[in-house]
Amino acid sequence: MLTVRGAELVWTGTREIERGEVHVGTDGLVVATPEPAAENLDATGCIVTPGLVNAHHHLMQSLFRTLPGTRGVPMREWLPTMAAAYTAAGVDAELCHRAARVGLTESVLCGVTTVADHHLTWPAGLPDAGVGIATAVADAADAVGARLVFVRGSARDDPQEAAASAEAIAVALRGRCQVAVGPAGVHSDAPETFALLGEVAARHGLRRRTQANEQVDVEVAAQRYGRRPLELLDEWGWLADDVTLAHLCAITDEERARLAATGVSATHAPGCDLPMGWGIAPVAALTDDGVGVGLGTSGGGSNDAGHLLADARLAMQVAPLAGRALTAREVLGFATAGGAAGLGRPDLGHLDPGAAGDLVCWDVSGPADEGVHDRLAGLLWANPGRRPRHVVVGGRVVVRDYVAREQERSL
Ligand SMILES: [Zn+2]
Repeated sequence: MLTVRGAELVWTGTREIERGEVHVGTDGLVVATPEPAAENLDATGCIVTPGLVNAHHHLMQSLFRTLPGTRGVPMREWLPTMAAAYTAAGVDAELCHRAARVGLTESVLCGVTTVADHHLTWPAGLPDAGVGIATAVADAADAVGARLVFVRGSARDDPQEAAASAEAIAVALRGRCQVAVGPAGVHSDAPETFALLGEVAARHGLRRRTQANEQVDVEVAAQRYGRRPLELLDEWGWLADDVTLAHLCAITDEERARLAATGVSATHAPGCDLPMGWGIAPVAALTDDGVGVGLGTSGGGSNDAGHLLADARLAMQVAPLAGRALTAREVLGFATAGGAAGLGRPDLGHLDPGAAGDLVCWDVSGPADEGVHDRLAGLLWANPGRRPRHVVVGGRVVVRDYVAREQERSL
């Protein structure tokens, strides 16, 4: 179906192949040999990598970037300012579709092929609206050609309502995209919400995701329960190998050991955590302890962008301040297979035969890449803000010569 030819280097996720080719079969999976009549995709001057996995996004926030009163403020001020903007705009399926189209188009233009959208804002008292919003986001993913994981989140929702809505979404989106569940954190949701969403996950075989140790999370856990967020999550059965925790700033050594013992995985989101002043999650130490680490941008309300490769560069640059330096290969691993593992998706984040045909061609022939001695490391160290030439999802070209399929449609 598709053969990527002419690349300088193919990085499969584990191997670096000089002048390699990648073949994608008619079923959209990577195959070892080219199929007859396959389309050729010219990757001259490019490094080919697996598609990036943005393991933590809030796509709806793509319409709420750089809002007055949200920069340089503590999270306890940020949250109500964002909430007031959502209320003023009116969160419905149409707004969520528009936001997801923006966020997902931006994502593919940055080399991201899979986005986990942790959706937290739902119209109160309208349980059926949940399916409408989830379907609207899935429609946006289809239009853009991106791979979506829809996370039915909750932020102070009625626990029963959240669970009923998650159940309905799991059924409605079955066969379309992966669904997961995820309370926003112990600061926003009661143990009952964690328990009920956990039951929905168990019934439908869904992954569980939440956030921990954002600033307000630690404050509220101390005030309300006299505990630390990770102690509560452990008690509530949410430190387990089907759970991924985003953020994890300012965790103690003892908490790190607890995470490693439970098999939980982590999502690092430095492009949110740093500007919000939450600190730098000790991801190198987590990796050394055996905790799986993925990478996410978090939402436009805190990050203002969804450029995962730029955030991978940031993760690498700040790592020495949080314990030890990370290599470019380690961070590229977070941005691909690491995020995929947290989603329970061994088919994503690498290019070995049988993997999903999700790949990116990064042109490294320009002046910003001249003089780079380690080309794969140079993907992150050099050329900040780099954008991919081509992006392929499941064997379909969704970005060709820097233009997204979605943009072409509206030209
Ligand atoms: Zn987040």
